[in-house]
Formats: sequence, C-alpha cells, structure tokens
Amino acid sequence: MNARHIILVGAPGAGKGTQATVLSDVLGIPHVSSGDLFRDNLKRETPLGLQAKGYMEKGELVPDDVTVAMVRDRLSQPDCNEKGAILDGFPRTVEQARSLENVLEQDGKNIDTVVYFQVSEQELIERLTGRRICRNCQAVYHTLFNPPKTDGQCDVCGGELYQRSDDRPETVQNRLQVYFEQTMPLIDFYKEKNLLQSVDGQQDIETVRSALLDVIKA
Ligand code: ADP
Ligand code: ADP
Ligand code: ZN
Repeated sequence: MNARHIILVGAPGAGKGTQATVLSDVLGIPHVSSGDLFRDNLKRETPLGLQAKGYMEKGELVPDDVTVAMVRDRLSQPDCNEKGAILDGFPRTVEQARSLENVLEQDGKNIDTVVYFQVSEQELIERLTGRRICRNCQAVYHTLFNPPKTDGQCDVCGGELYQRSDDRPETVQNRLQVYFEQTMPLIDFYKEKNLLQSVDGQQDIETVRSALLDVIKA
C-alpha cells in the first residue's frame, strides 16, 4: 500500500494525540506529533529544543521555518517514507500547510484526509488543565476523563505522570487565542481543497474513535 498522510486538526486539548495513538496502532502508520518532537528535543537540550523553548513556555507557535524543517526531517525517515504519517499538531498555520504540500509533492506523495475535531472552548479548558502525560512513553491521561489505574502512574509502562507546564491555566488561555487566530484559517484552507472531514470531538473517547475510523475508512 502507498504511504498515507492523515492530518488531525483541532484546538489544544481537542483529543488529537489521544486518537492519533489509536489510529497509528490500527493503521500501522507512524504517529508524528510536532509537540512531542519539540518536547523530546527540549529534554535532550538540542539546539532545536533550546530554540523552541521560549515559544513553548509562553504558548506561542515556534516559527514556521524551524517547525517545517523538524517535521520534514521526521517524514524523511524510513518508517514515514514507507507508510506515511498521522500528523498531530502539524500543520498549524497556512504557511506550514503550504510547505507540507511542497515537501510531499517533491516525493510524489499527497494528503489523504484532514480530520477536524470540533470541541467547545469550555471543554477544551477542562481537558487541558486536567491532562497528565507519562514522562517515559508520552501516553496521555486525564485526572477525571481518562484516569490511570494507579494514581500518578502510567498504565502502559509504569512511568511517572506529570502536568505539562503549558497546561497551567495562565498559558492555556494564550494557546487557545493563538489557535483561533493562527490555526483556524486552516479549516477553510483544507475545506476548499475538498480534504476536510469533521468529527464531533466533544463525545467520549470511544465514540470519537469510531467516528474517526468511519471518516478515514479504516
Ligand atoms: P497541544 O497537544 O496541546 O495542541 P502540542 O503538544 O501540539 O500542544 O504543542 C505544544 C507547543 O509546541 C505549542 O504550544 C507550540 O509552542 C509548539 N508547537 C507544536 N506544534 C507546532 C507547530 N506545528 N507550529 C509551531 N509550534 C508548534
Ligand atoms: P490534543 O492532542 O488535541 O491536545 P489530547 O489527546 O492530549 O489533546 O487530549 C487532551 C486531554 O483531554 C487529555 O487529558 C485527554 O486524556 C483528554 N481527552 C481526550 N479525548 C477526550 C474525550 N473525547 N473526552 C474527554 N477527555 C478527552
Ligand atoms: Zn508510560
């Protein structure tokens, strides 16, 4: 089968990462999260991580050229080259979307489907402020909506759960603002290209999952 590129678009907290993990397992396509790539670079204190740090802490977007170069590099690795990618959190600006088109086009590849997760602002705030992440494997939990079996501990690997510093209420507001201003225009961009599918992201995790599998015809 040819490489498939599926893009998940939605606000911070919409459930992209949660669903991307499932989709990646079901389809056998690598999950590529730009946020995870940045956090991994930050942890390893690479030049890229240090460059991104200030933006991430404030909830601003990292500049397009830096972000595109990082994702392009990930997509050129053998697993993505062969299978494609479930893109989560990228693109986030129209500029990034145009760059992605060029990157794929150069390899004779294209975008399969863009799925837009619709979730109300109130729900986003509750999801972000209760989110917990595994320090070891990046699995995503929620203190109320998707709690781990043992408090503070990852079900998958036993790793320690933590709260991202940008999930504190002060930064969450700014991230949502940035999303409305800089990422929302992507919805029309992909609608005009007839690539957009919408999913009601407000439903519970299982229901969103089956709606998602329906629209991408897994
Ligand atoms: P969320 O899952 O809550 O949407 P992410 O983990 O995707 O958040 O992103 C965390 C931070 O990493 C963002 O606030 C931003 O600083 C940076 N980032 C991630 N993806 C991108 C992108 N495509 N363009 C620019 N910055 C990005
Ligand atoms: P994103 O990657 O879009 O920022 P996440 O997948 O990290 O979003 O989800 C944000 C938070 O909301 C996490 O704590 C996650 O456990 C929780 N969550 C995800 N999907 C749902 C859902 N359908 N209902 C309730 N909570 C959810
Ligand atoms: Zn874990």
